[in-house]
Amino acid sequence: AKAKSLRIRECYYRREQNTHSLRKLTLLARLKTAIEQDQLTLVYQPKVNIHNHSLVGVEALVRWNDAEYGPISPIEFVTWAEKSGLINRLTRWVLNTAEEQSRAWQVQGYMIPIAVNISPTNLSDPKLIPLIEQLVTEGSFGNSMLELEITENAMMENPEQALKSMEELCKMGLKFAIDDFGTGLSSFSYLLKMPISNLKIDRAFIMNNDENDKDAVILRSMIKLGQGLGCIVTAEGVEDQLCLERLKSLGCDCVQGFHVCRPIPADELLRWIDDSGWVAQDKAA
Ligand code: C2E
Ligand code: MG
Ligand code: MG
Ligand code: MG
Repeated sequence: AKAKSLRIRECYYRREQNTHSLRKLTLLARLKTAIEQDQLTLVYQPKVNIHNHSLVGVEALVRWNDAEYGPISPIEFVTWAEKSGLINRLTRWVLNTAEEQSRAWQVQGYMIPIAVNISPTNLSDPKLIPLIEQLVTEGSFGNSMLELEITENAMMENPEQALKSMEELCKMGLKFAIDDFGTGLSSFSYLLKMPISNLKIDRAFIMNNDENDKDAVILRSMIKLGQGLGCIVTAEGVEDQLCLERLKSLGCDCVQGFHVCRPIPADELLRWIDDSGWVAQDKAA
């Protein structure tokens, strides 16, 4: 009986795995169509300087609401896209869409730098650098209006290639941020070589509000490290005032998180700038 129940369980497990991969394959095909037909959207989350309340920029975050399957988290579909190679198209769509938004804001008198998330594979996409060059020279991404966010692991996947691409993009005036800092494996020797101007500390280090714990030691060291390397240090995932105060006293430069603003559509962002009270009015853009 035991053997039988094991077999049944195994069978059940396999079937579950199959429906899982079927869902994934179906959704991957639908994602491809969604990119081609412009069905994805971008939301924007502000980054503010805690000391002078200026708006430093926004991070563009992709959203997909499939007609049949409903909203799907980018954590899920970006991972599939990375594995299937679709990520290059996805990232190019994000860059083009963010550039159009940047232009629209500039026409309305707002200079708002946009940060776009880049996956490891993107750095070896032969179409990436020419596209960015075009968006910088002919589009609205000149004057450091585009920043690229890359995780430590993405950089370390092929550090020589990453460094080469980053240096080329740097010459065009692009800024780089290390995303989710502290969660990956970065080698300090590479950290020193990479042209990085912003360090984003992962929210895993931010959420704990206990002042006397070891987290504070790590947090303080990360802030010092980032600033010592000449970076602006941004804390991700700030969810309450206490957390914000603590970061301020630790000397962190900027914050991003639900406490300041959730990721919102572009038109809501201008209203947020004018009405939320977070952004000093002389420093809106
Ligand atoms: P990320 O780049 O680290 O983005 C920050 C994530 O934290 C976002 O989740 C954001 O909504 C969420 N977040 C912001 N503030 C708070 C907070 O106070 N509390 C909590 N709990 N969460 C907060 P989202 O939009 O679901 O994106 C998740 C991840 O998916 C991103 O992490 C990024 O790695 C990836 N992603 C999103 N959009 C893109 C994209 O356009 N391209 C690529 N390659 N990856 C993307
Ligand atoms: Mg990011
Ligand atoms: Mg992050
Ligand atoms: Mg993340």
